[in-house]
Amino acid sequence: MTDLHLLSIQEMSEGLAKAQFSSRELTQHYLQRIAQLDQRINSFITVTPEQALAEADAADQLRKAGNAGVLTGIPLAHKDIFCTQGIKTSAGSKMLDNFISPYDATVVAKAKQAGLVTLGKVNMDEFAMGSTTENSYYGATKNPWQLDCVPGGSSGGSAAVVAADLAPFATGTDTGGSIRQPASFCGITGLKPTYGRVSRFGMIAYASSLDQGGPMARSAEDCAYLMNAIAGHDERDSTSVNREVDNYVANLNKTDLKGLRIGIPKQYFNVQGLAADVKARVEESLKQLEQLGATLVEIDLSMVDAYVPTYYLIAPAEASSNLSRYDGVRYGYRCENPSDLNDLYTRSRSEGFGEEVQRRILIGTYALSAGYYDAYYVKAQKVRRLIQQDFLKAFEQVDVIASPSAPTTAYKIGASLDPVELYLGDIYTLAVNLAGLPAINAPVGFDAQQLPVGLQLIGNYWSESQLLSIVHQYQQHTDWHTQRAELAKETV
Ligand code: GLN
Repeated sequence: MTDLHLLSIQEMSEGLAKAQFSSRELTQHYLQRIAQLDQRINSFITVTPEQALAEADAADQLRKAGNAGVLTGIPLAHKDIFCTQGIKTSAGSKMLDNFISPYDATVVAKAKQAGLVTLGKVNMDEFAMGSTTENSYYGATKNPWQLDCVPGGSSGGSAAVVAADLAPFATGTDTGGSIRQPASFCGITGLKPTYGRVSRFGMIAYASSLDQGGPMARSAEDCAYLMNAIAGHDERDSTSVNREVDNYVANLNKTDLKGLRIGIPKQYFNVQGLAADVKARVEESLKQLEQLGATLVEIDLSMVDAYVPTYYLIAPAEASSNLSRYDGVRYGYRCENPSDLNDLYTRSRSEGFGEEVQRRILIGTYALSAGYYDAYYVKAQKVRRLIQQDFLKAFEQVDVIASPSAPTTAYKIGASLDPVELYLGDIYTLAVNLAGLPAINAPVGFDAQQLPVGLQLIGNYWSESQLLSIVHQYQQHTDWHTQRAELAKETV
């Protein structure tokens, strides 16, 4: 079969159950697509065909023995920030180019337990710092819709593999938008769960109080299947929350759109730099949700001007601390012929880290230094609390909050935007992480250049089921999520 990649996760699961095809055939099909199409996209850092086929065979055996679960034998790709035992885990950095993880991240272990087959590890901005995937040591990933454009970042590899049908779904991580913004740029669905819903154990740390893993797939339904596999409490992550996990698939139709109150923050739609096409597509999608029964309510989120500065203090501060472990001594890159210990540290870090990572370490170290700690870091933490309270107040009035996921569609590769311009492009996503809330991106159309536009819906804590359900119902009435880039349509 040449079109297995057109199936939804549910259809794949049914096809496997009815023995219409085996996991080996399905896995081989994806490996072949990767071999033939990925030179043009550069989405994989590591492909693991032997392991994938061995896992597929094991899945087929399990099925023959009558022990298969719904996801047994379905392939997926992991962002290269999740530790995978025996497989290189680079975080997109030269620093970890030689790092073979001795253990699996909890997300990876859970995916294996569910019977999912790992196709390999996909590209990302170095240590998840960026919005374009251009900061990767392994070169930029291309947007499958237009190969001269970025796929977004930092989970750009994850978004691109789904958009090009090189994997049916993928894991991503989101510290300030890295699931939602690349999902938006690549026309797919991506969910950033509530902080604490998905274990961070074995997920290489960027900014620990903001990082959260989640699913990226074509549809909310496919995301729900992956969430069922990866969500849950983990005693090895002290910030993971011990709270019952929803059955996200079973809940896909549970939220009643009739009477659903969608908050429209008036400040969000007047943001400087919001592209006219993006605004128009998002407003159309909101009209559609209104037709399906929802009520649009104008709300106030007055802290919007504080989002970018607050995030870009707290995230680098935590990063500068987290990244101090890469010292050239214990693991990762080590410079050649160090003259003394200081030289070993300095050159290993100067040679092993890329420019953006070094910039953030400098900003973070500065903000945490004794003389500036109160003025910057402590102040940012206070503002962070105000941002959270702003959301909580809004949720007294509405059920979810809508906005674009990003002010623009995908940029051209090498557009040489300066760092601050790129940071401003994160305006709609950062506050969600600062508050620890869940949010989802759904594709809602295209701009004049035929690049995808994304709608973001932000929910209250633990409302993942609700967000997935709203987008699922929207996707029952629209077909943006099933549209494919020319490149994805190529058969192999
Ligand atoms: N673009 C943001 C940053 O560079 C968010 C990245 C992320 O979510 N990992 O920090």
